[in-house]
Amino acid sequence: MVSTHEGASGGATHAVFNQPPPLAPYDASDDRALLEGLRREGAGWAEEGVRRLGLRAGSAEAQEWGELANRHEPVLRTHDRYGNRVDEVDFHPSWHHLMRVAVAEGLAGAPWADDRPGAHVARTAGGLVWGHTEAGHGCPTSMTYAAVPALRRQPDLAKVYEPLLTSRAYDPDLGVPAQKSGLLAGMGMTEKQGGSDVRTNTTTATPTAEPGVYTLSGHKWFTSAPMCDVFLVLAQAPDGLSCFLVPRVLPDGSRNAFRIQRLKDKLGNRSNASSEPEFDGTVAWLVGPEGQGVKTIIEMVNCTRLDCVMASATLMRKTLVEAGHHARYRSAFGARLVDQPLMRNVLADLALESEAATTLTLRLAGAADRAVRGDTGEAAFRRIATAVGKYWVTKRGPAFTAEALECLGGNGYVEDSGMPRHYREAPLLSIWEGSGNVNALDVLRALSREPGTAEALFAELALAQGADARLDAAVKRLKGRLAEGSPSGARRLVELMALTLQGSLLVRHAPPAVADAFCATRLGGDWGYAFGTLPDGADLDAILDRALPVSDPSGAPAARAV
Ligand SMILES: Cc1cc2nc3c(=O)[nH]c(=O)nc-3n(C[C@H](O)[C@H](O)[C@H](O)COP(=O)(O)OP(=O)(O)OC[C@H]3O[C@@H](n4cnc5c(N)ncnc54)[C@H](O)[C@@H]3O)c2cc1C
Repeated sequence: MVSTHEGASGGATHAVFNQPPPLAPYDASDDRALLEGLRREGAGWAEEGVRRLGLRAGSAEAQEWGELANRHEPVLRTHDRYGNRVDEVDFHPSWHHLMRVAVAEGLAGAPWADDRPGAHVARTAGGLVWGHTEAGHGCPTSMTYAAVPALRRQPDLAKVYEPLLTSRAYDPDLGVPAQKSGLLAGMGMTEKQGGSDVRTNTTTATPTAEPGVYTLSGHKWFTSAPMCDVFLVLAQAPDGLSCFLVPRVLPDGSRNAFRIQRLKDKLGNRSNASSEPEFDGTVAWLVGPEGQGVKTIIEMVNCTRLDCVMASATLMRKTLVEAGHHARYRSAFGARLVDQPLMRNVLADLALESEAATTLTLRLAGAADRAVRGDTGEAAFRRIATAVGKYWVTKRGPAFTAEALECLGGNGYVEDSGMPRHYREAPLLSIWEGSGNVNALDVLRALSREPGTAEALFAELALAQGADARLDAAVKRLKGRLAEGSPSGARRLVELMALTLQGSLLVRHAPPAVADAFCATRLGGDWGYAFGTLPDGADLDAILDRALPVSDPSGAPAARAV
């Protein structure tokens, strides 16, 4: 289609052509790797809901919410006009629209109240499609989801709060938590002197006369989504670092001391507020035994780490879809970009990475789901594979989104395209919930302290044994390197674990063209350093036919070269 701009003289100054139409509306669930993984991991019953959510995520309305929530950032109001502290953060209405849908669709705590096998997988798949809107609001929904298993370490508190954390009602008004229709939870671990090493926390917890109730004093350096209703916070109690539940409003309706000093001015994740709260006589309830704060809150971190993998896989898929859409409509040097051989190589290489990330995400979600239901083998696999996946998939995110952005040329560098927003989001996922080194070292810790985790990983890899010689050789290499276990080599080891795990999943579940190209490049070494360096033998047509959406409402021809 050609549109012209009429100047004052009535003559056309320039015609607009060779630009793609808007992508939205599109179907964010039109992703074969995702739907196949959903069924395979035991949540086929959720497919209809995931498809409905995918259509909603790709609607022009929801895409606009994502854009507006990031353009109109949250604003901190510390005081009211009379000088009283209020510590409120004001959000654009789009933020609330996004949150309302996310909570209603079960992307917060709902799976914990759902006995159906696969409930946690269904939530992960929902996140993979709803995340096409924007990433920031995934922070409070993730923390709310993750708070439940940690809170269960204190059954009397869980009895009151769990039904509200698992509710599908989004209730953003400030109020007594137990009287609300639904709650959101945040977490406060990081302090100025240490985020990875939380044992250096200096916030103190002083017992009161009432058993289990303490007062906190201290200053947290990062506490995201400060408008949540309750927070799990680490503080030093007489018997050591402990976990506490901190509500913003106390049971008698008075405000708890939760003074937000400022909001962070962040690279990305701008729709979401990340704050520095100060605790001063803040009333808190002990969660789990005193001195076992890390052990308690690690239950939460296990879940948020999976969500980091999910969010990275979502960014990959979203930016791949954007890149594929652009390449279909944009021509250069006499052919559509999608028909230019080298662009096909770039898109296919990105597609491989995206499918590997999505497939691993759903495998991890399946492990979490089965572990929650008492499967000890899956619990051991989850323990090590989540740290492996968190390390590798989030590490690939920034390079992936940069390459996808480049597929749009200069348009990709401009905010209107949405690509800068996705690009800025990507590095965060490898920083919070354990930065790259911390996750890699956590894998070493699991190997040395919980040998069952290595057994579980190799049992999983063995399921693909004999299917691909390059994969078999890589697993052999991995076994040889396991004994090394040096901290300085942790990244190399974990990278190989991640690639063998992804390769084994693709060999078992993806079409041969995908599995073959993945093994040739990521395991067989026939690969350059940048994306777009698949070898000559790679079946680009088959990879692209599978990956690029087939339901483009504009009716553009499929990706295959014509
Ligand atoms: C946008 C945003 C929101 C956040 N929200 C929250 C929140 O809601 N609640 C919360 O508690 N925290 C939050 N955080 C904090 C986040 O979890 C920490 O920043 C993160 O855990 C790293 O801690 P740190 O910043 O203190 O860095 P450090 O711990 O100082 O680490 C710095 C670097 O050193 C590396 N490193 C650490 N230890 C080792 C080691 N032993 N060997 C080798 N390398 C090592 C790390 O991998 C990292 O690369 C948020 C952070 C961001 C950016």
